[in-house]
Amino acid sequence: MGTVRRQLGGIYIYTRTRAHVYSSTNYNTQTDTCTGVRPHTECTRCFLLEYICVNQSIKFIYKALYYNSSCHKVDQVIRVNVESEEQIQLLRALEKDTYWGLDFWLHPVNSELPVDIHVPYQSLYAVKDYLSAHNIPYTVMITNVQDLLDEEKAEMEENNMKERHSRSFNFGAYHPLETIYSWMDDLVAAHPNLVTKDQIGTSYEGRPMYVLKFSTGGDRRPAIWVDSGIHSREWVSQATGVWTANKIATDFGTDPSLTSLLNTMDIYLLIVANPDGYVHTHTSDRMWRKTRSQNPGSMCRGVDPNRNWDAGFGGPGASSNPCSDSYHGPSPHSEIEVKNVVNLVKSHGNFKSFISIHAYSQLLMYPYGYTCKDAYHAAELDSVGRSAVQKLSSLHGTTYKVGSICKIIYQASGGSIDWSYNVGIKYSFAFELRDTGRYGFILPANQIIPTASETWLALKDIMAYVRDHPY
Ligand SMILES: [Zn+2]
Repeated sequence: MGTVRRQLGGIYIYTRTRAHVYSSTNYNTQTDTCTGVRPHTECTRCFLLEYICVNQSIKFIYKALYYNSSCHKVDQVIRVNVESEEQIQLLRALEKDTYWGLDFWLHPVNSELPVDIHVPYQSLYAVKDYLSAHNIPYTVMITNVQDLLDEEKAEMEENNMKERHSRSFNFGAYHPLETIYSWMDDLVAAHPNLVTKDQIGTSYEGRPMYVLKFSTGGDRRPAIWVDSGIHSREWVSQATGVWTANKIATDFGTDPSLTSLLNTMDIYLLIVANPDGYVHTHTSDRMWRKTRSQNPGSMCRGVDPNRNWDAGFGGPGASSNPCSDSYHGPSPHSEIEVKNVVNLVKSHGNFKSFISIHAYSQLLMYPYGYTCKDAYHAAELDSVGRSAVQKLSSLHGTTYKVGSICKIIYQASGGSIDWSYNVGIKYSFAFELRDTGRYGFILPANQIIPTASETWLALKDIMAYVRDHPY
């Protein structure tokens, strides 16, 4: 059992196993002494540590006497409020180092935006040490990720029992794929003259991809596209898709704005744009973002389906590393889930708006992501976006920022709304729903309905504008 020595920003980190990380800020390579070696600070009371130095290596002998089970296996989400360009570079270096298993929920971009890092317990000490050593201030945003996940799971199980008992569907709960799919059938059955469920293809793992079509008739009427859940872990996105589908079906005929829209236009809603990923978040890894396709020559699976579109493909803000969460894939539209949407949108040929729903950060964005150059319609899209978020905020006071993807978050290539805009769908938007980081991707289910309700006001505002501005 030797130790692994790694250098991270000038600090030597000694890892005995993946389970325990020790650090020596005072390791002296000249004398090969290891004074200053200390165990994980938050676990000092949890185990005894002994160490000896032998020639060029340090050998740890430790007795893992755990007094408190909560002092290990606690993943955290750390928030860094970046203060300088230098700190951004240091965080980017940290992000590139895949050894630590870090999952950047929010990437280092500029000093205006926070950086959220999901840190596995094995790397907590090393990462905190790295930040402290470089005087980068941070706060712990989620002190125990597992607690939130356990709570979420328990709530889902409880809700599942209630729904079975009452034979009803709770829009304020998260659901597995099969429940969403069977609920779609119920929706179609309840509104047969308005809603149809069309299969647009299958996923990599062979699951059907269903789009709900809301139409009062006509042939290939001008249409609005809405998708949710392309990034599988952004659960409030799919849940908002479900709530929205129900809202459209039940408000048709009573809501004048929606009714007049559906008298001349169709709405297409793809609630689970990444079904394999979604299933994976329920069965194996709640934090899974990508598709589940196999990458030849790599142990890592999946492609970021929102870096896979033929729009600046492979440019900045996408990774060529299959193990990265923003891996763009081998070629544009390599992911069948993306290709299915491309085929439908192209063969339809009459979409006037393309809206993609993500989480989190509370943003409403328009093209471009792959370049910071203004889109030709940037000024109009900006004013449509501002009007929409004003409506959104009117319900619960939730604040949103509006801007182009590149300017408001970061340069990101291969995104869906850049593709849709470039194929001529002028009103292309992407939402990042709640929250701004308190819970991040693990947004409690009691925020689903408030989130969906406020988002609906923005969606309706955009749709009404599209209806009133034919092109
Ligand atoms: Zn996303």
